[in-house]
Amino acid sequence: MNGIQDGVAVVTGGGSGIGRQSSLRFAEEGAKVVVADVDEDGGHETTEMIESNDGDATFVRADVTNSDDVAAMVQTALDEYGGLDFAHNNAGIADEGTRLAEYDEAEWDRMIDVNLKGVWRCLKAEIPEMIKRSGGAVVNTSSVAGVSANGSAHYAASKHGVIGLTRRATVDYADDGIRFNAVCPGVIDTPMVQQAGEDNSEELDRITAGIPAGRLGDPREIADTVVWLCSEDASYVMGQPIIVDGGLLAQ
Ligand code: NAD
Repeated sequence: MNGIQDGVAVVTGGGSGIGRQSSLRFAEEGAKVVVADVDEDGGHETTEMIESNDGDATFVRADVTNSDDVAAMVQTALDEYGGLDFAHNNAGIADEGTRLAEYDEAEWDRMIDVNLKGVWRCLKAEIPEMIKRSGGAVVNTSSVAGVSANGSAHYAASKHGVIGLTRRATVDYADDGIRFNAVCPGVIDTPMVQQAGEDNSEELDRITAGIPAGRLGDPREIADTVVWLCSEDASYVMGQPIIVDGGLLAQ
């Protein structure tokens, strides 16, 4: 894809699922990748996969709820590769979902801290470095729960918030040559969903049967969208929630 080769990308939640696939996809297109995750084993596995394919990647343990970790993640991109061009702010958590009045405040705070404030912390650290390079491209992972009531209340609120942040960042930093978009995956076959399937296989079967594509999404299909959004092929796509859901929300 145009403009990805020789760029530098950071990917949060790069040790599993969607973030692993976007890390691999950036590397396949010739970018250098900083893989960030709280899961050290998963993160190292991703960098080994990239290196065994002749790519260039560095793992950094970073918790997106910790501003120092996030600053160190961006610093790793500067130290190892000399700058930052692309970011996939993707780390996130889900839960099994109850009705909103049944959550306690700590559960609410945790969800918002990882899924929404975590993206803001990343943007805050990444944007100044992209301004120094006179541009960049960012994709934040939202969800179909960011544009509909699919997903529990605090998950949906966090993912709606990611789209708001993405839109506002677009308005604030368009003059600096930075593009921001959000990707909104449907139900994707990653450890997050596999865990939910183990907890309640009938529910996952019911959800899968309701997807017009007739199957779960492959994390690679989300990664293709993320890297395309960062490429010059998407140069006029700005501030958008891009839904990749096998037709789930078309119904
Ligand atoms: P996953 O559980 O396979 O991967 C998530 C990764 O994020 C894990 O490696 C985990 O260690 C990491 N992570 C969690 N908390 C973190 C933190 N505080 N700091 C740094 N890393 C952290 O899940 P996935 O399905 O690949 O999900 C990736 C993103 O996609 C999430 O934001 C999720 O909400 C979103 N999403 C997933 C689906 C789906 O169906 N799988 C659908 C819509 C949106």
